Amino acid sequence: METLSVRCNHCGAPLQVAENTRFVTCQFCQSSLEVKRTDSSVFTEEVAKIAENTGRMAESLEVIRVQNEIEKLDREWGFEQTNHMVQGSNGPTPPGSPIFGLAFTIFFAVGCFGMASFSASFGAPGIFQLVPIGMGVFALVAGVMGMVKGQAREEAQSRYQQRRTELTHQLEALKQK
Ligand SMILES: [Zn+2]
Repeated sequence: METLSVRCNHCGAPLQVAENTRFVTCQFCQSSLEVKRTDSSVFTEEVAKIAENTGRMAESLEVIRVQNEIEKLDREWGFEQTNHMVQGSNGPTPPGSPIFGLAFTIFFAVGCFGMASFSASFGAPGIFQLVPIGMGVFALVAGVMGMVKGQAREEAQSRYQQRRTELTHQLEALKQK
C-alpha cells in the first residue's frame, strides 16, 4: 500500500498516511486532520478548524437572519400604525384613556336613561323616552366597542414589543459569541 508524506497543519510534524486515507489524527499534537488532495499536492487541514469556521459562518448568517426579522417586524408595525391613522381613529390613545372613555359613556348613558324615566314620570309622549334610551344604548355600544378596540391595540403593541425584545436579546447573544 502506498503511503503519502504530509505535514500536520497544526504542528508541522511529518506524517505518513495511506493513499486513500481521508482523516488522520496527528501522533504528535493529536489534531484531527483531513487529508486534502489537489492535482499537484497533498496537504492537511485541521478538522476542528473547519468546523469552527463553519460555525462562525452559521453564526453570522444567524445574525443577519435575526436582524432581518427585526427590520421586518418594525416595518410591519409601522405599516399597522399608518393603517390605524388612516382609518381615522383619533391617533394613538394615551394609556388608561379607554377606561376613562367607558366611564364617561356609562355616565352619559345613565343620564339618558334618567332623562327617559324623568319624561315618563310626566307622562310625556313615548318619543321623549325612546330617543334618550336610544342615545344611551348607542353610547354604551360605542363605548364598549371603543374599549375592545383599544384593548386589542394594546395587546398588539405588547406583542410587538415582546417579540422585538426577544429578537434583540437573541441578536446580542449572537454578537457576544
Ligand atoms: Zn500535529
